[in-house]
Amino acid sequence: MARKRRIGIMGGTFDPIHLGHLVTAEAVRSEFGLDEILFLPAADPPHKKGKKVTDAYHRLIMTHLAVASNPYFTVSRLEMERSGPSYTVDTMRELQQRFGDAAEFFFITGADEVNDLPDWHEPVELLRESRFIAATRQGCKLNRERLEKTFGDLASERIFRLTTPQLEISSTDIREKVRTGVSIRYLVPPAVADYIDKEGLYR
Ligand code: ATP
Ligand code: MG
Repeated sequence: MARKRRIGIMGGTFDPIHLGHLVTAEAVRSEFGLDEILFLPAADPPHKKGKKVTDAYHRLIMTHLAVASNPYFTVSRLEMERSGPSYTVDTMRELQQRFGDAAEFFFITGADEVNDLPDWHEPVELLRESRFIAATRQGCKLNRERLEKTFGDLASERIFRLTTPQLEISSTDIREKVRTGVSIRYLVPPAVADYIDKEGLYR
């Protein structure tokens, strides 16, 4: 059988997408020999309920602008086309259906998030649908004990860790900078900075 296509999944609100996201995605792609990274802007992230999130439309365009120059990066509207909050396990099931058996998935998260994986919806099912890559700063550890308690052997077979350059950049900080008139140059790709400026976002 032919080698499966290895696809990394980078989910996020991307409000806006920044160099922290891009550096992580590229490091994971290169180190794990992935064929593609799929950026999945969230529609209505459950953990951000109540908080104001910029129109999906703008977040989608900024994500496209940010990844355009990398031939390995693509954007999917899968999450955005859903109405209401969605569970990662459902997203991964749908992706597997769309791509078929010829693809396998690597979901990219931070170490903190991956340590809480046992609390996610249908965690064991989720780990069967997708491998996980915890992109972390040096010294930040996986809670192997906790993960093994829920997932058994599956934990070491399907959850990986990668030390990545951790840029001290967050979307929250970028929004605040724009609001207060502080430069975001070199924190987001130039095309994203231009778009934010042109559309008057985050003011
Ligand atoms: P916010 O400040 O609004 O929470 P954010 O910067 O955390 O935004 P998200 O869209 O919430 O961005 O993040 C999407 C994914 O990218 C998450 O898995 C998050 O852990 C990861 N991520 C966010 N910032 C960085 C960064 N600087 N370096 C590496 N990964 C990051
Ligand atoms: Mg965040």
